[in-house]
Amino acid sequence: MIRKGRDYIESIERNPPETYYEGELVRDVVHHPAFKVPVNTVASYYDLHWKEEALRTYNRDVGEETSISLVRPKSKEELLRLGEGLVKIYDFYRGFFGRSPDYLNLWTMVFFAHAEDYFGKHFGSKFMENAMEIYRESAKRDLFYTHAIVAPMYDRTKPPSQWDDPYIQIGITEERPEGVVVRGAAMICTAGPYSEMLWYLPNMRRDSDPRYALYFSIPTTTEGVKFISRRGFQPREGGEFEYPISSRWDEADAILVLDNVLVPWDRIIFYKKPELIEDLMWHTVSLRGWFNWHFMIQHYSRLKFLAGLAMTVTEAAGTNAFINVQEKIGEILLYVAMNEAALYGSIARAQELPNIVRPDPYISISASHFNMKAVPRANEILRLITAGASIPIPAGAKDFTNPQERAYLEKYMAMKGLDALERVKTFNLLWDVIGSEAGMRYEQYDRFSRGDPTIRWAQTYTEVFKDRKEQFTKLVKEILDQMPNPKA
Ligand SMILES: Cc1cc2nc3c(=O)[nH]c(=O)nc-3n(C[C@H](O)[C@H](O)[C@H](O)COP(=O)(O)OP(=O)(O)OC[C@H]3O[C@@H](n4cnc5c(N)ncnc54)[C@H](O)[C@@H]3O)c2cc1C
Repeated sequence: MIRKGRDYIESIERNPPETYYEGELVRDVVHHPAFKVPVNTVASYYDLHWKEEALRTYNRDVGEETSISLVRPKSKEELLRLGEGLVKIYDFYRGFFGRSPDYLNLWTMVFFAHAEDYFGKHFGSKFMENAMEIYRESAKRDLFYTHAIVAPMYDRTKPPSQWDDPYIQIGITEERPEGVVVRGAAMICTAGPYSEMLWYLPNMRRDSDPRYALYFSIPTTTEGVKFISRRGFQPREGGEFEYPISSRWDEADAILVLDNVLVPWDRIIFYKKPELIEDLMWHTVSLRGWFNWHFMIQHYSRLKFLAGLAMTVTEAAGTNAFINVQEKIGEILLYVAMNEAALYGSIARAQELPNIVRPDPYISISASHFNMKAVPRANEILRLITAGASIPIPAGAKDFTNPQERAYLEKYMAMKGLDALERVKTFNLLWDVIGSEAGMRYEQYDRFSRGDPTIRWAQTYTEVFKDRKEQFTKLVKEILDQMPNPKA
């Protein structure tokens, strides 16, 4: 099934998660100032499926049409269709709004594909069926998932099991015939307050205590599930003129609290074997390969938009004629080209497994990790090439309604290639990328949403390319072996 935007809005209106905002429980998430922007954006995601035929496709695994983001690719052609479908979605968002429903659809689909060879093999047939059933439910009802991974930042020098309270990180407190009880919190859960379902999938590298080792899916309305939202970055009423990004694509982030939540057994897919996480992340399931592929696509769309923004602002002022400015725009375009190559390269070199065809993980992980620095660098370039001109922009749309002031604006705010109104709109857009709260939050997301860049870049060496190490060092060794060995 593919929903329309209004179906999602009705669903979240009927069953909102329990969210605290400024000391109060949110009663009306759909119209709340902090959430109405992302709620409308999620609705627009569903509606986009009805405007873009390429996003809807017959899904053989559920026997009906679903979003392309839920279709398990069984050939390179199908993987290409999935990749191009995601590009369509992220071109629509201009590379923002990365926690749109398609993101976790991909995870749920990948878990389904590996239900047998991973979850069934390691945890037994019940867990295999759970992975399959959770996918079918999600695809048939077109549900919107959020997810949480990271433990609160209480004390990063020790594993959470050694913290003053070992249940700051979410852990199992009790096993019952009907399920397990969990308690604790997760540091950040984007979209929690307006999502319908939660995937909880902790980082087991930080602590291998089995009490923390479980993956599960539950409705966000389950008793004991709570979100504490950060301040919304929504513009003031009518602020679409001043904040074109914040008013379209501000995502809400929240702390997730699970206060003695009962998770039924049939919602769990991974249980108490933390040592199996590496196989899920890097090998059999290659979850890292998949979610980094999705990130690469988000950022490919973003970089195209940032390149367009750099060209628009510099061409208007004529600064595009300067070689140093051209070099910087060229740098963003190099990033675009490398992401384009990575997308199509990852499909051309896809791994054709019996149960799924997946993008080449070397390429997708490397590209996504590269973008942790490339996207903030593209923002920095925008700051450098627009310099002080990005700052003195009239306060709002109302400045153009005062005839005396407008006359000054038309004369002094115009640029050679843009009249005053176009120039102010363009620079408002620019500021919402490089300077506003929403813009800064996105930059933090671009750097950290897949983990810390230092650790991720180091992992390119210690993990991603580990099995190709010999291939590379052999190139050196062959020459060393051919070099003469002088005798003393
Ligand atoms: C806007 C935004 C939205 C996000 N949304 C979500 C979401 O929806 N769901 C979700 O689960 N996560 C989300 N993430 C969280 C993201 O997964 C984490 O921020 C990321 O994994 C980094 O983890 P951390 O913050 O715990 O940083 P840490 O890994 O603790 O790193 C903090 C600092 O300490 C250093 N450090 C930490 N450990 C070590 C070590 N062992 N050795 C050396 N240095 C170390 C790092 O280099 C870094 O500078 C989001 C993040 C952002 C910014």
